[in-house]
Amino acid sequence: MRYFSTNGRSAVVGFREALLQGQPEDGGLYFPTEIPDLAELAVLPWREGGEAETAFSLMRPYVGGEIRDADLEAICGDAIDFPFPLVEITPGIFALELFHGPTLAFKDVGARFMSRCLGYFSGSIGKRAVVIVATSGDTGGAVAHGFAGVEGVSVVILFPKGRVSRVQELQLTRTDKNVITLEVHGSFDDCQRLAKTALSDRDLRNKYFLTSANSINIARWLPQQTYYFAARRQFPDAKIVFSVPSGNFGNIAAGLIAKRAGLGARSFIAACNANNVVPKYLETGQYIPEPSKRTLSNAMDVGDPSNLARIRQLFNDDLDLIRENMATASISDEDTAATIRKVNREFGYTMDPHTAVGFASLEKLAKPGPSEVGVALATAHPVKFDSVSDILSNNIDVPDAVARLGDRERRSIEIGNSYSEMIDAIKKSL
Ligand SMILES: *Cc1c(COP(=O)(O)O)cnc(C)c1O
Repeated sequence: MRYFSTNGRSAVVGFREALLQGQPEDGGLYFPTEIPDLAELAVLPWREGGEAETAFSLMRPYVGGEIRDADLEAICGDAIDFPFPLVEITPGIFALELFHGPTLAFKDVGARFMSRCLGYFSGSIGKRAVVIVATSGDTGGAVAHGFAGVEGVSVVILFPKGRVSRVQELQLTRTDKNVITLEVHGSFDDCQRLAKTALSDRDLRNKYFLTSANSINIARWLPQQTYYFAARRQFPDAKIVFSVPSGNFGNIAAGLIAKRAGLGARSFIAACNANNVVPKYLETGQYIPEPSKRTLSNAMDVGDPSNLARIRQLFNDDLDLIRENMATASISDEDTAATIRKVNREFGYTMDPHTAVGFASLEKLAKPGPSEVGVALATAHPVKFDSVSDILSNNIDVPDAVARLGDRERRSIEIGNSYSEMIDAIKKSL
């Protein structure tokens, strides 16, 4: 398999090169030259534990022989060693729980897959690989845990001190030795600026192979198709509408490429919060990026979603075709909180704010009938977001995996928001 840039000016490369580069130099996103036919995967009978095998079968053509089959199978088995349960909330409407991984969010799948692939190739790079990531909460935890103990790779995580949730803070600071956590006295934007500057630091580049592990990397993006095939195979006869809580639009772009590959889903809903540039684009035909707005579902506070470029590529930039394949909704914080309350009261199920945006969008747009089901992707565990216990005025049980984190040694370095402080901290720790 080869990958081209959606901006069309960078060279076409293979899986390894696209993974290592992350983003093509022309500022586009890597996109596969062909979309494999995976229809067979959609009709296999479902069995427990089939998630890792499904990931292997679907990633095999995308890796294109650059990782030996036995190794790719081991990578998938190791990366996806937790289930994606489907829970019926109301008749015909299900939550697909993607939060049973170590950091309780769906980003675990992509981050774990990518980390192991990078570990696989690290021997051939010639320098130590250093992954640098700025996070507002969710991504950093998934990347820190995904890379924990991976040979030949170090990770630097920057997060804004005091601005992540209680559980996210635990996940960011109770890490392995190859993970350096920097707690920045500043905002997420400061963290992002520092990470960007470090990634282009010539001194650092001479010594280390620097990369970012952000969500546009093909090795984080493509394995997410597993969720959709895993759900599809449990409803062999039903038409499925998937509602995907969307921020940077990577997850839904994976669903749409799976649909093209033969998934057999009826339709998709891009469920957004108040950051509604894509719903507006589909309505008016004009794409106008905006500064992001803060909401309860803060992992989706994105004002210029990168992966829209992949969706436009998939549908040849034909707006009507995009509209046929992807409906959109924009849910306010008020409605998000009301949904969390209602679902908890009426059905005894606790949702996190991102999942609630997906569920509310499904209720708004889909009408499940005897042969149709709605599946809302439950992208994070409610305990990760302190707002949920405030909205419900009660505490949420902390899963064992999180409770055990508290027993581990706290490892983090506090820094101000200047580049010199950051570089000192990194150099001392690497
Ligand atoms: C990242 C994230 C999203 C958004 O996913 P995208 O692929 O960026 O659209 C949704 N929910 C949660 C909990 C997330 O962490």
